[in-house]
Amino acid sequence: MRFHVAVAAIAVTAFFAVPDGSTLQLIWQVAVGWFAAAMIVAGIRHRRPAISVTWWLFALGVAGNAAGILVEYVLTHSAVEPGFPSWADAAYLSLYPAIAAGLVLLIRRRTAHRDWSSLVDATTLTTGMGLLAWVFMIKPAASDPTIGLFGHIVSVAYPVGDLVLLAMTVRLMLSGGARNTSFRLVCAALVCFLAGDGAWAVINQMVWEAGPLADKALADVYLVGYLLFGAAAVHPEVRTLTRAVAPRPVRIGRPLLAALTVASLIGPALLVMQALRHQVTDALAIALGCIALFLLVLTRMSQLLTQLDLQTEKVRELAVTDELTGLPNRRAWNTELPRTIERMRRTGDPLIVAVIDLDHFKNFNDAYGHPAGDRLLKEATAAWQDQLRSADHLARYGGEEFVLLLPDAGPAQAREVLERMRQATPLGQTFSAGIAQWNGAETSDDLTARADTALYQAKNAGRDQIVEATHQPAHR
Ligand code: GH3
Ligand code: MG
Ligand code: MG
Repeated sequence: MRFHVAVAAIAVTAFFAVPDGSTLQLIWQVAVGWFAAAMIVAGIRHRRPAISVTWWLFALGVAGNAAGILVEYVLTHSAVEPGFPSWADAAYLSLYPAIAAGLVLLIRRRTAHRDWSSLVDATTLTTGMGLLAWVFMIKPAASDPTIGLFGHIVSVAYPVGDLVLLAMTVRLMLSGGARNTSFRLVCAALVCFLAGDGAWAVINQMVWEAGPLADKALADVYLVGYLLFGAAAVHPEVRTLTRAVAPRPVRIGRPLLAALTVASLIGPALLVMQALRHQVTDALAIALGCIALFLLVLTRMSQLLTQLDLQTEKVRELAVTDELTGLPNRRAWNTELPRTIERMRRTGDPLIVAVIDLDHFKNFNDAYGHPAGDRLLKEATAAWQDQLRSADHLARYGGEEFVLLLPDAGPAQAREVLERMRQATPLGQTFSAGIAQWNGAETSDDLTARADTALYQAKNAGRDQIVEATHQPAHR
């Protein structure tokens, strides 16, 4: 490991001291590429990563790409003029299918389940860049009259290969999976290749010649890319790289939002640029690209809205549920009681409210501990629920105090129900309860207050009993 890092550091920095255009420079580049490929093979041997095929493909891509430099040199120095395309291009291009295939296997293993949002984001970024590549590289290459059909295919293959690699890189970065050092090294390697090719494309578009130092720095970026692949393979964490981790929530972070914004604006920006030059040559491509981007943005938006709906639903449910017992909480009760009273006002049916409070619960906590108290609360409410009809409504009012709504029930029935509940209370515990019948006119607060007063009477009378509130005639 330390040996690899030392060699890599020297290879990358000393490259600048190598004379420009010399045979040594060429040997240097090829050697670094092959050394990186050997690192990957060493990684496969010693670290035994879960999917070795991925790493064999990476090694193949890196070694093949570096071999292109050698092939090009041999062809230029032999009698035959290599021209374009040549076998060197086949070697250079071998990087794309090899790395892409390796990434497909890796990404598939790392994603626990389908992750549509990262797929949509990757497609959006690739579509934007694809439009750019089409206008500046693919279309000019495909219509260059100086190269034959094979030349067209090969020169289009480079930008297309980069687009595929870009799509896979974004997908790898956005989808789930362990984010360890090996993961970051693979991502960095991919970014090096994409940045190198991107810089190449920009330099080719410009009139100005890049100086020898810039050329060298650019060549060095690829060397760094090779070595980062090698480092990812020999790093101990390569073994956990395939661990599937659920993707992060559909949230869009700021850098991603910025990237998506830029990608979506590429189409209109190209059109503006061409319109200003009075030379709109790619109207159709730009229009199609914009349509695709709009649809992708809409898809993403609808994903976010669906997610928002689900979350809102969940929050709403959490807001009205007591965490410990799973019963409706006081907030739920505060809407349920007035609603039921309104219904009873219309139908004229009777209604009972009961307030229930565990006896000497503090002592229970003190004797057996707070967790045991929690368990008692859970078990007691579950046991009580078993004694109730589905129309009845039991809620946790707070602490060890509960409220019960019995629609269509009179005092006698209510007493019966509460008696059953009292006997069902687990662990030999008891409760006191106060019950009040709605008088047909009072507010929910008054009704609850009467039941509460009855509860206090039950407590004062020695607990473990049910007291009925005195009837309150309605004054209309
Ligand atoms: P009484 O018979 O007069 O009702 O006596 P009590 O001890 O039941 O009543 P008190 O109001 O003195 O004490 C209530 C205790 O309930 C105090 C508090 O620590 C405990 N308590 C409240 N909420 C929880 C809870 O969620 N879990 C547990 N374990 N204890 C709780
Ligand atoms: Mg109590
Ligand atoms: Mg209490």
